[in-house]
Amino acid sequence: MVRTEGLRKNFGGFCALDGVDMHVPKGAVYGLVGPNGAGKSTLLRHIMGIYRQDAGTVLVEGVPVFENKKVKGEMIFISDDLFYFQQADTLAMKRFYQGVYPNFNEKTFEKLREVFKNIDVKCRIRKLSKGMQKQVSFWLALCCAPKLLVLDEPVDGLDPVMRRQIWSLIEEERNKWGTTVLISSHNLRELEEVCGHVGIMHQGKIKMERSLLELQGTVTKVQAAFQQGISALPESLEVLHMSNAGRVYTMIVKGGPDKARAGLERLHPLFVDILPLSLEEIFIYEMGGADYAVQEILL
Ligand code: ADP
Ligand code: MG
Repeated sequence: MVRTEGLRKNFGGFCALDGVDMHVPKGAVYGLVGPNGAGKSTLLRHIMGIYRQDAGTVLVEGVPVFENKKVKGEMIFISDDLFYFQQADTLAMKRFYQGVYPNFNEKTFEKLREVFKNIDVKCRIRKLSKGMQKQVSFWLALCCAPKLLVLDEPVDGLDPVMRRQIWSLIEEERNKWGTTVLISSHNLRELEEVCGHVGIMHQGKIKMERSLLELQGTVTKVQAAFQQGISALPESLEVLHMSNAGRVYTMIVKGGPDKARAGLERLHPLFVDILPLSLEEIFIYEMGGADYAVQEILL
């Protein structure tokens, strides 16, 4: 759905994008994670065709986006700094969206009034609270049946109830239209439950990109207790990290849970338990702990 290759952008002498290679498969929910200043917003603005790159390519559905009206009519951006016309109320913005987005659906707008009932559609949007302004942009975006929905730090400023509601509306959207969703956040934990793909961005580059399916079974966290402690680990286990409290050992090992269990059983443990790993831990150990930059991003 979205592919960038060797994407570069300088602002004056500052290199904001330093050769970004990224692939968002069609239908995916892709989380773009990285610390402030990593270049996430800049990258998203290239994908939306707002900025023109200095070098490299940005393709959406196989075609360049910059000044491509047709492709732009099928994708929606909820930016981190929202823009509304000075005097516009929600109804006026709706008319504007109807002019730009050919698939704008009036019925959806009416249906969602119930969800966004706290918004006075005749109130100037700039007078609404920041959170409400964000809600207006979600409301309008959801009416456009976009092929691609791009959200820059979308849940900042929303209360937990509204967050959950918006996630479920996006999910509904995906089920109905097969919309591909690209979300940025500085916090991996925020995206853990919603994303099937994650790209980690740091200093203008995508450091790694994985689908969660790929990650399953690549590393396992396991806890085991031994009567006498252990002097040597079985060779079949590639231990990435180990700590112990007395006779209880916690290890992160390469490979899936079956392999971990089998390897430890050979040492006649008192018990072996497989523990859940957070997405953060998986990423850190997947990188082999070699790339400290990524550890810093995630911890
Ligand atoms: P993120 O969204 O990951 O926090 P940004 O893409 O906003 O990062 O910014 C990446 C870097 O590029 C930052 O150092 C920022 O100061 C710089 N930058 C972004 N936009 C501009 C701009 N329009 N002019 C100059 N520098 C910019
Ligand atoms: Mg940003």
